[in-house]
Amino acid sequence: MDNQITYPYIEEFLNALQVPEDGFLRALEENCRQEDIPAAVRPTARLLYLLAAAKAPKQILEIGTAAGYSALVLYLGSNKQANIITIEKDEERFLMARQNLRSFGALDKVKPICGDAEEVLDTLEGPFDLVFIDAAKGASMRYFEKILDKVKPGSMVVTDNVLYGGRTAAPGEPAHKHRTGVRAMREYLDYLCHEPKFYTAVLPVGDGVAITLIKE
Ligand code: SAH
Ligand code: MG
Repeated sequence: MDNQITYPYIEEFLNALQVPEDGFLRALEENCRQEDIPAAVRPTARLLYLLAAAKAPKQILEIGTAAGYSALVLYLGSNKQANIITIEKDEERFLMARQNLRSFGALDKVKPICGDAEEVLDTLEGPFDLVFIDAAKGASMRYFEKILDKVKPGSMVVTDNVLYGGRTAAPGEPAHKHRTGVRAMREYLDYLCHEPKFYTAVLPVGDGVAITLIKE
């Protein structure tokens, strides 16, 4: 299943409109595409940048670094002011991200950590003003629960890939190999939207983005 969230012509239009301004980011984006490494699509990257710029966070937490693309977007969005921690379990990707962050001159503010987020999260203190959850799709709820004591009222949590190529919203039973992931995502969105402590907007941007405000 390809992206069944918007129409291809809309995607093309939005992608052509929202080319990264920064040359290093453009090259990194291209490199990720060629090497088949995940990186936020352009509309999602714009949204992340905008949230980081509007929120002016002191501390950002990212779960799922890959090549460091979205970490750099958040770094630029915060006007290079935020301290960012980003977690990646794949060592090869962690090393690649660290190199990219170094080349960009961002290592003083962005700290990549190699490890399984579910373990690393227990060692972090916070509070984080902005959290970007973008690792194992079926585990988003578990990451979210683990960060609840590291956020504060007014913090924002952004979760990527919540529409999962459209599968989360598609009627009927999902294909066997996606069943657990789809169920977990539906449950997670339900929780984010109905728990009174949060306020969540779920948007059909990129692969689906949920933006959650922590109210209390
Ligand atoms: N945020 C990146 C893309 C991340 S892709 C960007 O937009 O540029 C998701 C990444 O999460 C993958 O590199 C994968 O290795 C990592 N990942 C998956 N499960 C993880 C876990 N439990 N802990 C840490 N990283 C994990
Ligand atoms: Mg993603």
